[in-house]
Amino acid sequence: MPQQRFTISTDSRQQIIDFTSQAQQTVADSGVDEGLVVISVPHCTCTVYVNENESGLVSDTLEIIDKLTTAGAWQHDRIDDNAAAHLAASVMGNSVSLPVSGGQIELGTWQRIMLVELDGPRQRRVTVTVIAG
Ligand code: ZN
Repeated sequence: MPQQRFTISTDSRQQIIDFTSQAQQTVADSGVDEGLVVISVPHCTCTVYVNENESGLVSDTLEIIDKLTTAGAWQHDRIDDNAAAHLAASVMGNSVSLPVSGGQIELGTWQRIMLVELDGPRQRRVTVTVIAG
């Protein structure tokens, strides 16, 4: 299957979840040996990124998101009071593209694939699209 979806449940307003193992399993199940994987989230207040899963860095990431987005008087807050979450998601992007090699997502030693909940708790969908190349 070149495209698969799964759900991640978050349990707080802001939260970072390492889902590298689930992404790796999905790519392994695709049967693609060499190519590209695009991991995306179909949400406006949730994002994905690749970096180290070290507890201090995870806290720092949430802190810089707050610093970037809490200082404004955001117009979208008139609608549903979550402009900061939308803005952080826009800055970080809603997908990552990574090489697939040997049937696995190619990552550096310390790299992990992380989901950022910005307006939880919610059920978040993740789409994994694997392209043979
Ligand atoms: Zn909104």
